[in-house]
Amino acid sequence: MTLMFNGIGVSQGFAIGEAYVLHRNKVDVTARKLSKKQISPECRRLRRAIKTAKADLLNARDSIPKDAPGDISAFIETHILMLDDDLLSRTPIDIIKSEQCNAEAALQQQREAMAKVFGSMEDEYLATRIDDVNHVIDSILRALDTGEQAADSINLKGQIVIADDLTPADTVVMQNNGVAGFVTETGGQLSHTAILARSLGIPAIVGVHNIRQYVKPGETLSVDGKRGLLLAEPSKDMLSELRKQQKAFRQQQRDLNSLIDEPAVTQDGVQLTISANIEIEEDLKAVKRVNADGVGLYRTEFLYLNRDTLPTEQEHYKAYTKVLRSLKGAMLTIRTADLGADKEFSVTSQISHQGPLAHNPAMGLRGIRLCLNEPALFITQLRAILRASTKGPLRILLPMLTNMSEVRQTLDLIDSVKSTLDGEGIDYDPDIAIGGMIEVPAAAVAADQFAEQLDFLSIGTNDLIQYTLAIDRIDDQVNYLYDPMHPAVLQLIKYIIDAGQKANIPVGLCGDMASDPHIVRVLLGLGLSEFSMPPNSLLAVKHSLINARRVRVRRFSTALMKTSDTDEQLSLLERINRG
Ligand code: PEP
Ligand code: MG
Repeated sequence: MTLMFNGIGVSQGFAIGEAYVLHRNKVDVTARKLSKKQISPECRRLRRAIKTAKADLLNARDSIPKDAPGDISAFIETHILMLDDDLLSRTPIDIIKSEQCNAEAALQQQREAMAKVFGSMEDEYLATRIDDVNHVIDSILRALDTGEQAADSINLKGQIVIADDLTPADTVVMQNNGVAGFVTETGGQLSHTAILARSLGIPAIVGVHNIRQYVKPGETLSVDGKRGLLLAEPSKDMLSELRKQQKAFRQQQRDLNSLIDEPAVTQDGVQLTISANIEIEEDLKAVKRVNADGVGLYRTEFLYLNRDTLPTEQEHYKAYTKVLRSLKGAMLTIRTADLGADKEFSVTSQISHQGPLAHNPAMGLRGIRLCLNEPALFITQLRAILRASTKGPLRILLPMLTNMSEVRQTLDLIDSVKSTLDGEGIDYDPDIAIGGMIEVPAAAVAADQFAEQLDFLSIGTNDLIQYTLAIDRIDDQVNYLYDPMHPAVLQLIKYIIDAGQKANIPVGLCGDMASDPHIVRVLLGLGLSEFSMPPNSLLAVKHSLINARRVRVRRFSTALMKTSDTDEQLSLLERINRG
């Protein structure tokens, strides 16, 4: 009998193979009271386990093929660094001594303390980094426990691994051993298995609760990594249908890859700019892989997160010059810190504003408001950006603009930073372009005023939709109301594009709307020609855009701006995406 399970599809593609069910022994972390004499040997036992865990990670790192994407080794490097960090190598030792307890209990206590810190982070990416802590602690616990089957001794040729969760090291070793697909009980879009499976191009589903209870080793499984569908013992007919889909998917991937070097021009000759959004250094590899036309949005908030001190000018400078080097002459758009709201940061004690916690942070002191309130923080970043501007083409993008006085204040501040640099004899690009994110409805309605003062505009639909429709973008309860096709949203986007055209300045769009291949033709029809999105969606978006004709899609976009009828919207979307 065929069983069907649903999870979160995190790495698209189809895999068909035998189940390899990975059962890891749960290590007993119950606290045991030690005598004074037992404390030193227990500390030594923990140190030895840390060494073993490190040796395993170094082995995994050395087994990564040379041509593998860089984020794979980056994950393992992070774990190696974490093993060396005092938080894991020293604090548990201190706990053994102060609590007179066993190493397992000390590690568990430290895991709970660290989980509290990560759990309070609102940023989804950073919150999921507790996975790193858990993986590293589990690897030490396993080394304490001995007798665990090491991942590198398993032959997985063509098999589908079913596990509770997988560490980056497991994932790499399994890929070397020929694994065909991954299914895990825990995890989300940003968990390690998800990120690595995407990088390695291995179909994967995460979050299939308790799946190890239902699947038997050796059973035939099929994984649809896009829909998140797992079938156990599919029938003959199902298997032949799945094989067809697998073939079609592989062909589609080959077709998308063939677009990497294609010029970004529509069928009727509209020249497009298709750039990438980046957040962390690892994203640069993906930017290169898809041959993006540059970076349309560098979210620099990530430089401020997960640390106790503010980044220094030199740290900013190093980060920017590194990105510029990697882009080799392509444009880099650096967005100044959009801190606050969903990009909560932990160094608030370092800035002068010590007001009460905002009740409604999305409308509070965030983005440009916070930067103008904290000139020292802002100037540090502006100095670094200006200094980096001699190293490659670079533009400054200001987030969360609401009124023109914010623009004027910022332009004045940039002028004064330039004068200071002149006084210090430091070079910068005197003509550096300064643009604004249009993501607040008031700024959208007044876009022509912003367009007069700025060198370019970038539409931030994630926030624009949030504010226009009064829907908190991180509140799951109202997520179903988050509607990019709402006529008010489309009309505002059109208005901003027109304002830019009137002022003869470029207008791009860097919100999530630009990453959906089924929606981008609507934007093309509204007059947009600059798109920026996460690198993973770039080729599918490019495929949709370069096969379209603006003259044809324009009338569908115009009709979409005027309708709230869901059936009509669906029909228009279906027609705009034909051909
Ligand atoms: C946006 O609001 O659309 C945007 C790109 O910025 P962020 O998602 O970082 O707020
Ligand atoms: Mg935004």
